[in-house]
Amino acid sequence: MGYENSIKAFNEAYSVIPGGVDSPVRAFSSVGGTPPFIERGEGGYLYDIDGNRYIDFVQSWGPLIFGHRDSDIELSVLDSVKRGLSFGAPTTVETDLALEIVNMFDGIDKVRFVSSGTEAVMSALRLARGFTGKDDIIKFSGCYHGHSDSLLVQAGSGAVTFGNPSSPGVPADLTKHTLLAQYNNIESVKKCFSDSIDGIACIIIEPIAGNMGLIPAREDFLVELRELCNEHSALLIFDEVMSGFRASLTGSQGISSVRADMITLGKVIGAGMPVGAFGARAEIMSHLSPEGAVYQAGTLSGNPIAMSAGLTSLKKLKANPSIYQTLEARAKRLMNGLEDIANDANIDLVTTVRGSMFGFFFSSKSVNNFEDALKNNSDLFAKFHQGMLNSGVYLACSAYETGFISTATTDDMIEETLRVAKIVMNDIK
Ligand SMILES: *Cc1c(COP(=O)(O)O)cnc(C)c1O
Repeated sequence: MGYENSIKAFNEAYSVIPGGVDSPVRAFSSVGGTPPFIERGEGGYLYDIDGNRYIDFVQSWGPLIFGHRDSDIELSVLDSVKRGLSFGAPTTVETDLALEIVNMFDGIDKVRFVSSGTEAVMSALRLARGFTGKDDIIKFSGCYHGHSDSLLVQAGSGAVTFGNPSSPGVPADLTKHTLLAQYNNIESVKKCFSDSIDGIACIIIEPIAGNMGLIPAREDFLVELRELCNEHSALLIFDEVMSGFRASLTGSQGISSVRADMITLGKVIGAGMPVGAFGARAEIMSHLSPEGAVYQAGTLSGNPIAMSAGLTSLKKLKANPSIYQTLEARAKRLMNGLEDIANDANIDLVTTVRGSMFGFFFSSKSVNNFEDALKNNSDLFAKFHQGMLNSGVYLACSAYETGFISTATTDDMIEETLRVAKIVMNDIK
């Protein structure tokens, strides 16, 4: 495969865009090489500007559950475009999409739409703090909730649970209100509650973590989080920007019995357009402006084109719930096949599947939290990634991302991927 045009495009981009990309993961920093510049997508395939074709397991990092250029979504977008791009005034399609969501999720009476997952989480945290009158929040190492200040935290020294900024430009005064706990470890959460000085407003968690590889929370862990929140009058927020409509139609609600007070959504609800949302019971949502005093706004929030794309997508999913069985069966076929291939090549590999989401670690034991995930053999991953890419399989360019199956990912594509993986695994062992 040649990459001449992409190399040229990357160099040009580099001169005017930091790192040549508008979101860091796209730069291929952790796997090396040049990112292919994309010309177009079609169903389960991506085509780059050198004319290479790839089986796409990234799906724009999750949103494209129907693959590229789904005809129903495309038609609804084109129809909406012809009526104007944005009005800054209410439209009925916002209510239609909100209704779909509140009817789908237990305990969610109202939602507000924003333009990204980052914005959804940032707004949800402000609402949780405004509602409870408390300042501290608990997050888990390895969970990603977007790039807002309070969430760019890393563990401090020793046994301290208060977070330190993980990026220059984030004031320590902000991150000191974010306490860090370990995923799937309830004792670490209890310690945060006892360390908190200002009181805990909320726990925010990806109930099916997809940003440190794919690591689902254990059910008993979620049950205990729920109990701790009840005991301390804190809100439990499930960040389902990735897992919503991906792990099941209703994200973690289709898998776990634990219900959060608030949920955040994104990715699939926009079907590839920029959308985020946060929702909760009416009592909480009524604290949001203009009904309540907690301020939140957006010029392009509830954009009619994005809402149309999302509405069409959710209606299609709801009308065909068996989609998830098909997607999960394909994801399992892919992961089981990969495990067998790794086994034959004497390479340690552990895999996980939740609905249309899949993850694998080059690791010898099960992975339950970020610390376990870091033991992944990143050198082997980089080689595997590069080998697969050069053979026409587009996997996430980091060991700490989740892979996605779309309805356009056919059984033949899975077979082709496994055929290629067998060659690549034997090359890199
Ligand atoms: C992607 C993601 C976000 C951030 O969404 P953006 O649209 O990239 O801002 C937040 N939380 C989770 C769980 C995500 O996967």
